Amino acid sequence: MAENEQADLAVGQGPKLVGLHESIATLLASRGQWRQAYQHLRSALDLVHADQDEEPHVPEQLRREVDRLRREHAEAREQSLRDSLTDSYNRRYLDQQLIDLLAEHGACRHGLAIALIDLDWFKQVNDTFGHLLGDRVLQRVVELLQQDLPEGAFCARYGGEEFVLVLPRVDAVAAVEVAEAARERVERHPWHEIAPGLRVTVSAGLAYEPPADEAPQRPAVSAEQQLLRADSLLYSAKQSGRNAVAYRSDGRVRLAGAASGRRAIAETRVIGYR
Ligand code: GH3
Ligand code: MG
Ligand code: MG
Repeated sequence: MAENEQADLAVGQGPKLVGLHESIATLLASRGQWRQAYQHLRSALDLVHADQDEEPHVPEQLRREVDRLRREHAEAREQSLRDSLTDSYNRRYLDQQLIDLLAEHGACRHGLAIALIDLDWFKQVNDTFGHLLGDRVLQRVVELLQQDLPEGAFCARYGGEEFVLVLPRVDAVAAVEVAEAARERVERHPWHEIAPGLRVTVSAGLAYEPPADEAPQRPAVSAEQQLLRADSLLYSAKQSGRNAVAYRSDGRVRLAGAASGRRAIAETRVIGYR
């Protein structure tokens, strides 16, 4: 909309129109478009000072502009929380959510699980099949990790070929089942359809925080501490032969599902457990 057109529209309109001009100004300001934002604020002010006898009429064009700006604003915000390659949530979203979830966890009756997931031998995948195919593998792995997650759970890219599954409001058994099912989906995927000979597996470390009322002596953990625990369990899963989910139960590191029969599990580098 031309600037003089906006000014024309503004004069003699009512309070609804004032609100619309303010909305547009806010949206434009959030995008750093200060000059245009100022013009809309100016129009709002003119309206406030103008005679208000008539029933206000909001021009359709202005209404559409507000809708468009609101949509663009919401899309830009969503994009800023996504990883551009895999479209999973990014580290920024993960950090924000973990702060909120851990605060909520301290005050509620539910457990909170975090699985740190790392692709196995992924450097070899790149070296053998090329980096572009490696990128496609990462995208497919995210699709598989995100399938069938319980309500409220989400997947975020932690960095490189590492992802985090956040499982709020779960119990310990369900958390292991969800992580193991995700690992199994990756293992069973027909990777050879993408490239003959391609095989992809993941290892995971699953850190579980019990509900606050089940372990009242346990001090609250930070997101960083829980991620460190998940990382040390991931190390155990790798040490035990990869393609496995490691978790703690009754003070011991265990492997889930298919890998539970394996004997050697390194318990080194387990940080922050009592
Ligand atoms: P391990 O089982 O011990 O995890 O072995 P690994 O080969 O997966 O681990 P390593 O840390 O040696 O290699 C990780 C590789 O992941 C190297 C890096 O190039 C690759 N990688 C990280 N981010 C991307 C990406 O965005 N695209 C592709 N194609 N590769 C990536
Ligand atoms: Mg890694
Ligand atoms: Mg790896």
